[in-house]
Amino acid sequence: MNEYDSNRISDLMSSINYKKVSEIESADCFIFNTCHIREKATQKVYSDIGKIKKIFRNKKNKPIFILAGCVAQAESSIVFEKSDFVDIVVGPQAYHKLPTLIKNYEANEENISNTDLDVSDKFSSLENYKNSCSKISTFITIQEGCDKFCKFCVVPYTRGPEFSRNPDQILNEIKSLVKNGTKEITLLGQNVSGYKYHDINLSKLINLIASIQEIKRIRFTTSHPKDFDEDLINIFKYQEKLMPQLHLPVQSGSNKILELMNRKHTREFYLELIEKFKNARNSIEFSSDFIVGYPGETDKDFADTLDLIDQVKFSNSYSFIYSQRPGTPAVDYEQIPTEIAQNRLELLQKKLFDLQIKFNESKINTKSKVLLENITTKGDQFFGRNEHMQAVFVNGNNFIPGSIADVRIQSCNKNNLFGIISNN
Ligand code: SAM
Ligand code: SF4
Repeated sequence: MNEYDSNRISDLMSSINYKKVSEIESADCFIFNTCHIREKATQKVYSDIGKIKKIFRNKKNKPIFILAGCVAQAESSIVFEKSDFVDIVVGPQAYHKLPTLIKNYEANEENISNTDLDVSDKFSSLENYKNSCSKISTFITIQEGCDKFCKFCVVPYTRGPEFSRNPDQILNEIKSLVKNGTKEITLLGQNVSGYKYHDINLSKLINLIASIQEIKRIRFTTSHPKDFDEDLINIFKYQEKLMPQLHLPVQSGSNKILELMNRKHTREFYLELIEKFKNARNSIEFSSDFIVGYPGETDKDFADTLDLIDQVKFSNSYSFIYSQRPGTPAVDYEQIPTEIAQNRLELLQKKLFDLQIKFNESKINTKSKVLLENITTKGDQFFGRNEHMQAVFVNGNNFIPGSIADVRIQSCNKNNLFGIISNN
């Protein structure tokens, strides 16, 4: 979502005649779009601001420095106390105001902080700016915010309540992306499976998008397991443009921990849901998010998580040590010693890594349909992704970006598949 937001910020900045530069020293404005989900990301922001400040220490003109995104939202004007280099602070639902905020700053040179949470205002304002992203595979935000309040998570506080965009607005934006060359759309939302605009739910929206001929592939992320209705399971049966890969975060395989996290689902519910998807489309593969070392997690709880992984056999996943986030309920709970959490993370990642390698290896000597995105810097190799989102490098250079090729997979490593065009 930050990638989508950054692209939109870039569109806004072009409208007031700012251009991207590749040399740090030649910039007269910096915008950091930040993530607050874990502590490490937040700390990195301040250390990176320090690096830019150092570069400009002896220069005559100080660039305008804008801190955008979820760190800006969470810290608001405290940012100015932590760094005197920052001039403007703007939250993730207020960045559409940047052209005005910059103008005001230039007129008065006084620090400005805007952390309004009116997301509807943002999207209707962004409609006035063409989305200039020209990637073959492009993200588009359709839903934002969260009302679930998992006890570890800052999202409900930094992105605000759940909001679904008007489908007409979404379709118009996708049509303009199609003109830029887009063939694959990934629909984004913190709770994308809960998308609802009057009588349009996510499955209806996917069908509307699928009717745009130039769009060849559709994906959506991130889903909450509790938000799937029958329509959204059944659409995997018939909508061929919807890819057979689903990111479905579970966080833990222990019912006790799921309850302590306020996840609103059990492991049994999750496993039943997985079966429903498999019944709808037997080629479907799953990825997930895991948190280890959550307050209260015992060896038995952790073993339940490993067991759930064995049952589902995720094709790839993200895993994190629980990170205490200010303002969330779990911050005050008794914490698990770091060493135990670290050991568990290593065990869990080894299991996930083994499954990922196994899945990649299962593709060797089979054919994958690969949406070709771009030629690599090697010059004689194309990059693309198959239906399961695996990165595929294809030998050759006379392909058309945006076309779908039959590729025979010859080898793999942990993250990538390698192959050649298959003629039979
Ligand atoms: N809405 C999605 C869901 O409920 O599954 C997740 C969105 S969240 C932005 C992305 C991931 O960050 C979560 O699935 C979780 O694994 C991780 N995460 C969130 N808060 C965290 C925390 N305090 N510590 C560690 N990981 C965290
Ligand atoms: Fe955070 Fe996802 Fe839980 Fe919402 S549902 S609070 S975004 S982890």
